[in-house]
Amino acid sequence: MNPEIASKIADAVDAAFDRQLEFTHELIQYPSLRGRELAIQDRLLQEMSDRGLATDRWRIDAEDIEDHPGFGPMTVPYDEDFNVVGTYTPPETRGRSLILQGHVDVVPTGPEENWTRPPFETYVQDGWLYGRGAGDMKAGLAANFFAFDAIRAAGYAPAAPVCFQSVVEEESTGNGALSALLRGYTADAVLIPEPEENALVRANVGVIWFTVRVEGKPTHVREMAEGFNAFDATNDVIADLRRLEAEWNARKDEQPDFDRVEHPINFNVGLIKGGDWPSSVPAWCEISVRAAIYPGVPADQAWAEIQEFVRQAAIDRHGSEARLPTLKRSGFFAEGYRLEEDGAAESLLAETHQQVFGAPLETFTTPGYLDGRVYTNYGNMPTLTYGPRSLDIHAFDERVHVESVRNITKTIALFIAQWCELDPLP
Ligand SMILES: [Zn+2]
Repeated sequence: MNPEIASKIADAVDAAFDRQLEFTHELIQYPSLRGRELAIQDRLLQEMSDRGLATDRWRIDAEDIEDHPGFGPMTVPYDEDFNVVGTYTPPETRGRSLILQGHVDVVPTGPEENWTRPPFETYVQDGWLYGRGAGDMKAGLAANFFAFDAIRAAGYAPAAPVCFQSVVEEESTGNGALSALLRGYTADAVLIPEPEENALVRANVGVIWFTVRVEGKPTHVREMAEGFNAFDATNDVIADLRRLEAEWNARKDEQPDFDRVEHPINFNVGLIKGGDWPSSVPAWCEISVRAAIYPGVPADQAWAEIQEFVRQAAIDRHGSEARLPTLKRSGFFAEGYRLEEDGAAESLLAETHQQVFGAPLETFTTPGYLDGRVYTNYGNMPTLTYGPRSLDIHAFDERVHVESVRNITKTIALFIAQWCELDPLP
């Protein structure tokens, strides 16, 4: 593109960067944990209408999406789960359309005393902006808006529709993005600035959430041998799942994107509940598990394999079906995705990234879930998951690298400018 226009746009990002940072602080300060996303969504809706975008706000309704293969079963009511979308439409379309997405939900903080400062009190130190959600992904959400602003501050407007999508439920089902797709939002490309270390995601895993419940036989501890200890039995199930995890990791050589990832398939027992009394053999135990699957493996196939593996192991151990645990799906039921090489969107991102960072765009495979699977697998849209450097997402003292956010914003702005093309503002 015309280098003069490109440097005008990059300068406009710099000129507004203090405000962008301030806005990012503000977004992080919303404790938008599961079920508490309403306030931030309304704030973002305001941002959209302040920019003159056509806005759309709707509650996620299971009835609209539950028959879709990418749907994850909900375990909580969606009464306050709203997506918001703002659309810019040029007077006349010449370029290619674009969806810029972000998710507002953040994961729980864990014990707050383990944070250096309270998780929703933001601060910058040594070039890092701290707070739960800083990297994952409020910095990216803010960058989408300020990239667009920079184009207009430079005196131009995109010559194709640009859709700003702020979705919920990325951290537990992906139903927010699915709901946006099924509401009819499509474009020639999608860009999602998740914290991806200034690189582009080539492929990722799918994710399944499920619970395992084991029923024990409680007795007084003095007759412990006559009881059936639900905790011990759950430990056995966890060991079974570790064996299945190892089997799936051993299959990585059949996966072109995953053969260089050391341990692509991670099973995680993230929650545990059970028991009633220290002196009673535990009567029940329930764990919540996150399992991963390779892209191309349908979630229902993987789910059938998990259930059968756990069932067979329990029969082998106890000699009968009398002690079978109960497995239930409890969230994500998502296949992974793969971005086809060298598409037009990727080539342009590589070009704008090189322009801003002065280094080639790297691609990588991630063992985490991403909403990109919705648009790639079911919307047939090239999806660029690409965003800033971060540290300790889902952990204590989450933070995002401030200069990386600045550069990512410039890359996005230059990407919009060339993907959508530009019209001079009147
Ligand atoms: Zn995220």
